[in-house]
Amino acid sequence: MNKDWSEKNKEIQKLLSKEATFGEAIRKLIEFRNELFQQITWIAEGYPEKAFYQMPYAGIEGYHSKTLAYSIWHIFRIEDIVAHEMIAEDEQTLFSKKFLKKTGSPIITTGNELEGQDIAEFSKKLNVQELYLYAKAVKESTDNILSRLQYKDLKRKSGEETKQKLIESKCVSENENAFWLIDYWCGKDIKGLIQMPFSRHWIMHIEAMQRIKNRLCKIARKGIDPVAICGLSCNHCFLGEWCGGCRTEYNTCSFAICSEGRICPNVKCCNEKSIDGCYECSELETCEKGFFVPSNDGANAAKAQSLYIRKYGKKEFLKVQARLHEKYEFEKVQEIIGQDYKEALRILEEN
Ligand code: SF4
Ligand code: SF4
Repeated sequence: MNKDWSEKNKEIQKLLSKEATFGEAIRKLIEFRNELFQQITWIAEGYPEKAFYQMPYAGIEGYHSKTLAYSIWHIFRIEDIVAHEMIAEDEQTLFSKKFLKKTGSPIITTGNELEGQDIAEFSKKLNVQELYLYAKAVKESTDNILSRLQYKDLKRKSGEETKQKLIESKCVSENENAFWLIDYWCGKDIKGLIQMPFSRHWIMHIEAMQRIKNRLCKIARKGIDPVAICGLSCNHCFLGEWCGGCRTEYNTCSFAICSEGRICPNVKCCNEKSIDGCYECSELETCEKGFFVPSNDGANAAKAQSLYIRKYGKKEFLKVQARLHEKYEFEKVQEIIGQDYKEALRILEEN
């Protein structure tokens, strides 16, 4: 488990145990959930639709054997059911905000009953943007419920009536891989529910999602030119695990994501000029488009790299990058060659 997340979770659970620190525990829990949810936002906003139904670890034991869409559905269906049927005792967000229709989901269950290819087929049917909005709505609704809780509520446990209500709701499949959830949830008090569906369960599935998307990016980058269109090296980028590079559909370069239509201006410009990259452009030295905008910290480094490629070719460029990154950390390399592009070119030539 991610060490930082594990430590934060442990601290929250400790604070939750004492009345004096209960308020702080809830505040930290909501903060932590915001941090974790950011991972889901990046994934939902960054990847192409097909990424959400791929199963790069199909058949392998573990949460990462599922899809990105299934993981989001599963985390938030469980939270929605538990938060509303068991704690707030009101209507689930799936129904109150009409997300069943909006997401296009063929099921109302947690998805535990799905196996193998059925998971991919189910995932293909989901509208990913609506699924993301559903997840967001469930999270916000749970955060509200958490904020209203008092220390004395933590010991509250659901009775037989809630159990029957859960069975009748059919939100948990009768399949043996799913039905155990009802006994599991009903065996816990509210503190126990906070510990699992609202925090630890998120960590486990979000970590699995990270593994899935890293693998998808790795597959996308296989055999693809690692030299980015602006002259950066995808092989040496700190976002390597997040991004398939700007020559694939998995381009999650932060610069592309923030640009209009999610298309990087340098990629757009090179496509319009029908050139391979900015290093083939006669306007490179004076260009201030996209990544080369003077206010961008990485502009000089990228421009110098493009100039180097123009002069010595991509092969030599990748070699010099490898040598620099052997000597220094990514940030240091950017700092060294990030000041003035002519000076940076000289440094690249000397390495
Ligand atoms: S800034 Fe644009 S060209 Fe450069 S790596 Fe990112 S997407 Fe590719
Ligand atoms: S004008 Fe700028 S962004 Fe466009 S290809 Fe030339 S160097 Fe790249």
